[in-house]
Amino acid sequence: MELIQARWYGPGRTVPIRVIVIHDMEAPEGPKTAENCARWFSTLPASSKASAHVCVDNDSAVRCVADGDRAWHAPGANSDGLGIELAGYARQSRAEWLDQYSKGVLEQAARVVAGWCEKHKIPAVKLSAAELKAGKRGIVGHRDVSAAYRQTDHTDPGPNFPWDYFLARVNAYLKPKPSQPSKPTPSKPTPPKYRAPAFPKGLRPNASAPSARTLQRALKAAGFMNKSVPEADNYGPKTQEGVGIFHRKYPQYAAKGSTWDVAIGPKGWAALFSLAYGK
Ligand SMILES: [Zn+2]
Repeated sequence: MELIQARWYGPGRTVPIRVIVIHDMEAPEGPKTAENCARWFSTLPASSKASAHVCVDNDSAVRCVADGDRAWHAPGANSDGLGIELAGYARQSRAEWLDQYSKGVLEQAARVVAGWCEKHKIPAVKLSAAELKAGKRGIVGHRDVSAAYRQTDHTDPGPNFPWDYFLARVNAYLKPKPSQPSKPTPSKPTPPKYRAPAFPKGLRPNASAPSARTLQRALKAAGFMNKSVPEADNYGPKTQEGVGIFHRKYPQYAAKGSTWDVAIGPKGWAALFSLAYGK
């Protein structure tokens, strides 16, 4: 993730992280909106001190403040909160939040928020202002922080933010919970009855290669990629997302220590094909 350090924030934390606060930027939709907002945070004058941990637009996430530091985004929840800024406006309708651009924004945000939920043991649930005030752990909007602590009048991300869709996307990035009937240990694919094609050279995230199509077909067949996504000679964000979901389920094929590996290696390639076509 690109880093553009914000100018204003509180170094360190004295209480554990408990909530994730969703904001919108009140900024126009564009491919560089996250970068622009982060740059704005990096240059704000002392008369308007503000920041967030991460800014996202439809194709990227930019880190502005480390999780271990306190961003100044939602008074009342800065000491125990993480803040993420989404490209868009609080006045957006549900349909506008779910248009093509905003779905990209929600996907970028869901990936970051899922990482936070996992790292800081925060349940991927939406809290009401009352639950926030009562000390529960979860995800809120800036508007809920305003309602709970009454220190600002900000109402982002607005009344029509599609919480149901967003939380479903967050949960799609999270590993299955140990309480589910399946064993908590990483599942093992059945032994390959299908021989995977040789691992293609040059198949890496953002690369242009015909083998990206072969990968997309296998991801779809194994259920890690939506079948409606068009195939392309490009290892783009949708393909990376599919590989990431595959690695979430089978972390033994992900790069060591990476909770969200979007690059596929030869072993993962072979396992994916046995999952896709092995039965
Ligand atoms: Zn806000």
